[in-house]
Amino acid sequence: MRDTELYQTLLGLTTPWEVSGVAITQASAERPLGEVSVTVQWRADAALVCPACGRSGPRYDSRLRRWRHLNTMQWKTFIAAEVPRVNCPQCGVKQVRVAWAEDASRFTELFEAFAIQVLQAVRSKVQAQGLTELSWDQVDRIMERAVARGLARRSLEGLSYLGLDEKSFGKGHDYVSVLHDVVGRRVLDLVPERTREAADTLWAAIPEAQRQAVAAVAADMWQPYLEATRAAVPQAAIVHDKFHCAKELNKAVDLVRRREHRALKREGDETLSRTKYLWLKNPDNWTEHQRAHFRSLKLDSLKVGRAWAIKEAFADLWDYRYAASAKKFFDRWYFWATHSRLEPIIDAAKTLRRHLTGLLAYTKHRITNAVAETTNATIQLIKANARGYRNFTQYRIAILFHCGKLDLYPTGCDTMIVSPTHTKT
Ligand SMILES: [Zn+2]
Repeated sequence: MRDTELYQTLLGLTTPWEVSGVAITQASAERPLGEVSVTVQWRADAALVCPACGRSGPRYDSRLRRWRHLNTMQWKTFIAAEVPRVNCPQCGVKQVRVAWAEDASRFTELFEAFAIQVLQAVRSKVQAQGLTELSWDQVDRIMERAVARGLARRSLEGLSYLGLDEKSFGKGHDYVSVLHDVVGRRVLDLVPERTREAADTLWAAIPEAQRQAVAAVAADMWQPYLEATRAAVPQAAIVHDKFHCAKELNKAVDLVRRREHRALKREGDETLSRTKYLWLKNPDNWTEHQRAHFRSLKLDSLKVGRAWAIKEAFADLWDYRYAASAKKFFDRWYFWATHSRLEPIIDAAKTLRRHLTGLLAYTKHRITNAVAETTNATIQLIKANARGYRNFTQYRIAILFHCGKLDLYPTGCDTMIVSPTHTKT
């Protein structure tokens, strides 16, 4: 078998494309891997077809193009072709479509699919770059194209429970706003900042018909989010979940601790030294050491001890299944909290009461904004890998790539890709 025939078969090319030559370049100092270059041509006797309308037309000219393909053994492999341009009577001069790559790509579809699989498996751009021998920008472009494909194919039918939340981004105190599909456990989109405009932008990206179907939205008690949500999905209940409430109450407990610690220290009392996380952490997750430390503290005589007890008691609210009994519980708790003489706790209790409708909504819509574990882990990885995400655009692409549950692969690759993460059937 001749080398051209062999490559024709390996590439699975069919007429009018045919392999006309195969050349190799040996490895060298500046090229650690040898290269195989496969030249492909459009048969001279085959009619040219306009990619836009399907009519045939005369050849206008041709352009030499080159694509990276999957390796041949350990040799980097490229396809090169003079791609003809057809002069379509209807559409003008158009480049004919090639069978192995998307229009703007410099990689074959199979190579892109391979790179996507590597990125999904290692979840690190640096590692993926090494494994695929791509440049930084090339990895970025493959991810961008994959996400663009995924978003174009994505269905938003049947959205019912959504979550609107903030995430910190980068090293400083920059925030991004994230819209989740709670049921589908996927990130729908994210935008910079946590302003009214940011939330409006997220909502505007959901088509009106899908917005009308939303039953409830888990959201922070952040006023701009609430205003945007009420305007975009007026029929939807707003639910403040336990994580948002715990955040408010933890802030209050910590403030009580800081003030009390400062006062005690002035008298040489170090009781509250190194106790910050003891008061904030879920007791179920205490270490043996923390448990012992906690037992040694005289809770009743400490302000922070009382604040902590009020915070812990609040969590019972989430067990109620009826709004009326939840409301009764809240009223009792509220009385206790507001008579605690602990100013931060009184403030937090008042904040919670202002948002009581959203707290009670949880009895009916049991949703939270806690994104799936894998999503959180991925976001942590992405944040740790800061070098790869110098700007928001790349960060957004990475989150959608890993947490958007998008169909990322080029068309035509589905029969050739075998991957546990590839959900297409
Ligand atoms: Zn045409």
